[in-house]
Order: sequence, then structure tokens, then C-alpha cells
Amino acid sequence: MNQNFDVLIIGAGLSGIGAACHLAMECPGKRVAILERRNAIGGTWDLFRYPGIRSDSDMFSFGFKFRPWNELKVLADGPSIRQYVSDTARQYGIDKQIQFGLKTIAADWSSEQQCWTVTALHEASGETRTYRANFLIGATGYYNYDQGFLPHFPGEERFKGLRIHPQHWPENLDYRGKRVVVIGSGATAVTLVPAMADAAAHVTMLQRSPSYIFSVPGFDKISAVLRHVLPEKWVYGMARKRNIVIQRWLYLAARRWPERVRKILLAGVRKQLDDKSNMRHFTPSYMPWDERLCAVPDADLFKAINSGKASVVTDHIESFTETGIQLKSGQTLEADIIITATGLQIQVLGGTELRVDQQPRPVSAAMTYKGVLMQDIPNMAWIVGYTNAPWTLKADIASHYICRLLNHMDAKGLAVATPHTSERSLENETIFGSLGSGYVRRASHLLPRQGRDLPWRVLHHYERDTEMLMNQPIDDGVLEFTPARTVSPKDAVALAA
Ligand SMILES: Cc1cc2nc3c(=O)[nH]c(=O)nc-3n(C[C@H](O)[C@H](O)[C@H](O)COP(=O)(O)OP(=O)(O)OC[C@H]3O[C@@H](n4cnc5c(N)ncnc54)[C@H](O)[C@@H]3O)c2cc1C
Repeated sequence: MNQNFDVLIIGAGLSGIGAACHLAMECPGKRVAILERRNAIGGTWDLFRYPGIRSDSDMFSFGFKFRPWNELKVLADGPSIRQYVSDTARQYGIDKQIQFGLKTIAADWSSEQQCWTVTALHEASGETRTYRANFLIGATGYYNYDQGFLPHFPGEERFKGLRIHPQHWPENLDYRGKRVVVIGSGATAVTLVPAMADAAAHVTMLQRSPSYIFSVPGFDKISAVLRHVLPEKWVYGMARKRNIVIQRWLYLAARRWPERVRKILLAGVRKQLDDKSNMRHFTPSYMPWDERLCAVPDADLFKAINSGKASVVTDHIESFTETGIQLKSGQTLEADIIITATGLQIQVLGGTELRVDQQPRPVSAAMTYKGVLMQDIPNMAWIVGYTNAPWTLKADIASHYICRLLNHMDAKGLAVATPHTSERSLENETIFGSLGSGYVRRASHLLPRQGRDLPWRVLHHYERDTEMLMNQPIDDGVLEFTPARTVSPKDAVALAA
């Protein structure tokens, strides 16, 4: 098998498949391969299997721009998203470029040979394989697939029931008639509670502190009507534009008028809750978008609480007991199943070690250039989507930028692009900026940094990023280019091997 490629992508989730589709459309001559650790396409949407798993972004803007989502359900379930990513790969012939079961462990850049040598472990056999490529794209997502975040709870070994982390959901778990406690208050917890409430005896969401939760319509009625009078392509395109604008405004308004937006969000919850005393569980101490907001479709969480099948407790854990959880307030929660929806553990580039000319280059010491390339690391991109808007909006334009860069280099006979600056990064700011979510705070020492100004500043702003990545000139004086080296006959033999 020929293991030399022009572009090597690590990861076959939304970002990796999207990048490969862009390359197929915009750089059709490139030899591209994807190395994927799992045995299936889909990344997040293949890994997570808990009841109710779904997006909390609307699918019109979470879907690829080049292959619009064409269903009317606003938040889609995990299996539908997985199917959508797989179908996209098949439609663009990307499925044939993927090599499965390979965990990338190291990537070594050689300035002399102007290429990456990537080492991957075939986990089933324990064999290592090497690949060479001129350009490397990390599409590994942002968290550790092996382990979610699991804090230590005092006495946890005493609990006689079942303990589950949503990242490793047991197949065919029967929770009918069981008392379930879900620890957490993020997107996963608010999805699990209504999804399990009908069948379980009771579901309690145990949180240390409240989050902002808002209800969105589960079904796009406007598009449903428009579909009768307009071509489908227009209808979904319009839904996408509308949702991008609404989300952007909600975010900007929250940053500009935090108190007002807070009032609106809390009023929305109050309207949904029958027992208004429950408002104390939905009134956060921070301002909207200091941490991620959670959307729930058709107020399903609030309906489960109103029905009495679910409840929320805001308290701290004193210890686990044999039969449940003892809280600091003195209250006890009896449980057959405890679900620790305590979040993700951030991991950069899926744990791949980067070296440039044999020198380790941790990305935590680098700034990102235009939020896509890495300072002083040649021919490498890491695709990281938005955290304040649907991930794919950024992943799509980042992939388009990579294609523009590659085409520019080909047209000018250039082999290497390295973003370079002598400016220092802002010590306290990672690429996730001011987002204060727990998983970001815990990992601030692992993440790439950002600078004060463009192109080292990460904007988290779709319109401005679109202009920067889609339209601004590639050659901006910051990216340093190196022409293709003349290959000696000896190297030519080595490269062909
Ligand atoms: C439960 C959950 C719900 C989410 N919901 C939303 C949402 O509604 N909206 C939103 O915008 N975002 C959401 N996100 C964030 C989500 O991860 C992204 O939206 C998106 O799916 C990321 O796609 P990706 O391809 O970049 O990464 P991933 O989906 O994480 O895929 C990365 C791929 O890379 C592979 N990989 C990783 N390391 C290696 C390695 N070393 N070697 C080989 N392969 C490797 C993985 O196996 C995986 O297939 C959610 C995240 C979670 C966990």
C-alpha cells in the first residue's frame, strides 16, 4: 500500500470528513488519506450512545454548508447525525480514503525533506505504521476518547448500585423502574434526565450549581410551511442563514447586555415550570455565555420536572453511601444507578506528539494563526470549531482556507507554509478565550494560546472569520513560505519507498 500522501487528516468525525470533502471539491488532484482510531465514521456521534443523545445546536447551521441538513427536526439525535456524516463521506467518495483502527501517536516534521512522517498504532494488532505527507490536518476534536472527566467522590467504592459515565454507556442498559441520579448540569445531564424519566422510577439531576437552560422548538414549523411553496434547497438555505443570525445576536446581546439577556432567559424558564420554587435550580450565579448555554427541545426537561418523574437538587456531595448519595445539606438521595455526567477531559490532537526537526513542539506553547494553523509549525492545521456557535460553521471555513492555502502554494511552486511572529502570546488566554466552562478551565495548560491582535487572536465570530478565511489574501507577510526543494535522486528513492 502506498503510504505517501499530499494531505493526511487525523480523525473521521464531522471535521475530518468535512475537510476531506473540501479537498475533493477544491483540490481534486491531491492524494488524501484519513487515519481514524475508531472502526467507524462519526467521531462524537459514534462514541456517545446514552439515551436521548442529540445535538444542542440547530442542525441547519450544524450541518455542512456544502451538504445542507434537510430534515425539519431542529435538534437531531446522535444516530441521525452519525448517518449524515457517513452519507456525506460516501457521497464524496471519502469513505475510500479512510484507514480505520489507527491511533496516531506521533508526527515528525523534517525541514530537509519538507514533509511529515506520521506514526500510527494499529490498536488491534499492536503494529505501528508510518505515513508521509506534505500537509497534516488534525481533525481529532478536543477531548480524550478513552476517558471522560471523573472527579473523585468520597466513599464512591461503597456504592452497591451501578455507576456509569455517559462517555461509556453500557449497551442495552435496562433502567426501567430504577431510581436514577444524574450528577451534572450540562448538556449531557439535561438530555439524559427527560430521556430516562418515562421508563425510570424517578430521575434526579444533582447539580452543584445551576446553568442557563432555554427551550427551543423541536420542529421548524416555518420551514415546514415554506417547503410547500419554495424549492427545498432555498428553504434549508434560508433556515441556515436565519439560525446563524439569531444565534449570533443572542451571543452578542448576552455579552453586551448581560443583565437583560439573563432576565429574558430566566423568564423563559419561569414560564415553563409549574412549581416556581424550582427556579432556584435554574438561576445561575454567572452571566449568560460566561459558560455555554444549554438548549432543550420543546421544554422537555421542564415537562419531565412538572410531571413529577424528574427533579433537580442543588447541593454538594458529602459522600457516596451503599445505597446512594449523602449530601452536605444532610439530605440523602437513594439510587440504583448513578450517572456521572461530569464532562469531558480536553485532549489536543488526540494525544499525538508533535516534533519539528526532532524538537518536541507542544501546541500549548504556540498561538494559532487565523485559528487554523500553528505558530512555527510548518504545514499543519488543527480544525477546532466554535464553542459559542455550531462547531461546523468554523470547521467548514477552516477547511476552505486550507484548500485556498494549498492551491496558492501549488500555483507559486511553494512547498512549506509556516506562520511566524516574534510577538508573545497572552499568557492567560487560550483559544477558547473567555469561556469559563469547567472542562476549559481544567485544561488551560494544554490548549494553544492566543495573541492580542489578528491573525493571532481567535475571534469566535463567524462573519469576521468568514471574511478572514475565505477572502483575505493568503500571502499576508506573516505566513512564511519556502519553495519546493529539488529532490536528490537518493531522496526520490526514499520518498517513493
Ligand atoms: C455529547 C456531545 C454533544 C455535542 N453537541 C454539540 C452540538 O450540539 N453542537 C456543537 O457545535 N458541538 C457539539 N459538540 C462538540 C462536538 O464534539 C463537535 O460539534 C463535533 O462533533 C466535533 O467534530 P470533530 O470531527 O472535530 O471531532 P470529533 O467528533 O471528536 O471526532 C474526532 C475524531 O478523531 C478521532 N481521533 C482522535 N484522536 C485520534 C488519534 N490520535 N488518531 C486517530 N484518530 C483520532 C476520533 O476517534 C474521532 O473519530 C458536542 C460534543 C459532545 C461530546
